[in-house]
Amino acid sequence: MNSKEFRQYAHQMVDWMADYFEQIEDYPVKAQVEPKEIYNQLPEQAPLKGEEMSVIFKDFQDIILPGITHWQHPSFFAYFPANTSFPSILGEMLTATLGTQCMIWDTSPAAAELEERVMNWLRDLMGIPSFFDGVIQDTASTATLTAILSAREKATNFDSNQNGITQNNFRVYCSTETHSSIEKAVKIAGLGKNNLVKIPVDAQLRMQADALENAIQDDLKNGYRPICIVAAIGTTGTTAIDPLKEITTISQKFNIWLHVDAAYAGSALLLPEFQWMIEGIELVDSFVFNPHKWLLTNFDCSVYFIKDKESLLKTFEVLPEYLKTASRGIVNDYRDWGVPLGRRFRALKLWFVLRNYGVEGLQKQLRAHISLAQALTRWIQTSPDFELLAPTTLNLVCFRYHPKSIQEEERLNVINKKILDQLNKNGRMYLTHTKINKKYTLRIVVGQTFVEAQHVQSAWEQIQEIARKGA
Ligand SMILES: *Cc1c(COP(=O)(O)O)cnc(C)c1O
Repeated sequence: MNSKEFRQYAHQMVDWMADYFEQIEDYPVKAQVEPKEIYNQLPEQAPLKGEEMSVIFKDFQDIILPGITHWQHPSFFAYFPANTSFPSILGEMLTATLGTQCMIWDTSPAAAELEERVMNWLRDLMGIPSFFDGVIQDTASTATLTAILSAREKATNFDSNQNGITQNNFRVYCSTETHSSIEKAVKIAGLGKNNLVKIPVDAQLRMQADALENAIQDDLKNGYRPICIVAAIGTTGTTAIDPLKEITTISQKFNIWLHVDAAYAGSALLLPEFQWMIEGIELVDSFVFNPHKWLLTNFDCSVYFIKDKESLLKTFEVLPEYLKTASRGIVNDYRDWGVPLGRRFRALKLWFVLRNYGVEGLQKQLRAHISLAQALTRWIQTSPDFELLAPTTLNLVCFRYHPKSIQEEERLNVINKKILDQLNKNGRMYLTHTKINKKYTLRIVVGQTFVEAQHVQSAWEQIQEIARKGA
């Protein structure tokens, strides 16, 4: 393909992209395909000779698109969103065009310096103290792994990098509600799943700080070494907010690294009315949140803030001859700030989003989502045969169908699962579930970029109709 053809196809595809967003509601939200349906339509071998772009693009439309779940559909209420926006997509187009590999400052000074500036912007906007530094990671899973490795190194005075773990008696703590990425990180860090201690939660599914302190005391008595606590600001199941202030008292008392997983809810810190969620932040060691979930920046883009940059660098720095540069020490070489060497230019799309929306634009969008979720919460609370199963802290609503005539929990679980399956099968909306105290719970997250009141209203109507008809 030459640049003339590139120009022609690029124009054509940008037109397709704009059409896609204009017509997105014509697609079923969740892909309506059977396992292997897409795979079997693809040839067994790669083409020997180059193919025409028009043919490839046609296959994209005919074969690939039917197997796509439309995360940007305004009736996507499942999991947490991975929302995007027009400025983000434009930034991503330029990132792909430049094709820079931003491992160190020298390999694209603007990428490193833009990242530094945008991280500081976000840090200040979110009420995180200025002695924190920020870096963009691919995902929250990677950021949490980074935190646990740094905690391990700091606890061993950077000896476990050198000699490996010689005596494995480390302990990591999180609540029973925290995300699976904590367990994964503990396993990868060589600490062993059995050394991840899950602390019980209260009725609102927040970590019980006194239970945490007891667990640490017991472990110390039994010869364990507590090295890290992970507090959740917005759990995945219900966006429960762990009591950070109380947890910082414990982490300080026992000198334990405190990492905050705010992967989803962190975006809400742009709103002054949610600053209460991070009371005590100055005593935290590290913090992660994902602009690629709720901050209109397309996947992937995860922000990791760290208080003691030196311990991060000491954990990850390796300096082969071919990476030595004259600028070392004066600028940020982000390859030392996490696991991968190579890095995409992710700051660009975030910069586009922050500038094109402006802080006020982002705040407006977040508040709109929160208020739509609050409206849905009120409808559920005042409905005779539905019930709310967790408080709506932000924009995630947890509920179930529960007509008065049915009391057996097992039957309610079966009925609610059936409702979920039917809703997702008709393709007009997509929602997912969790379990709260063994109760099968329907989850609706109102966080898609294009979601409006009409979509939430229509979802609520469909839910009532299907529940009352089918169950
Ligand atoms: C989504 C989520 C994660 C994982 O995020 P990735 O970026 O996909 O790794 C971790 N923690 C919480 C609370 C989440 O909601």
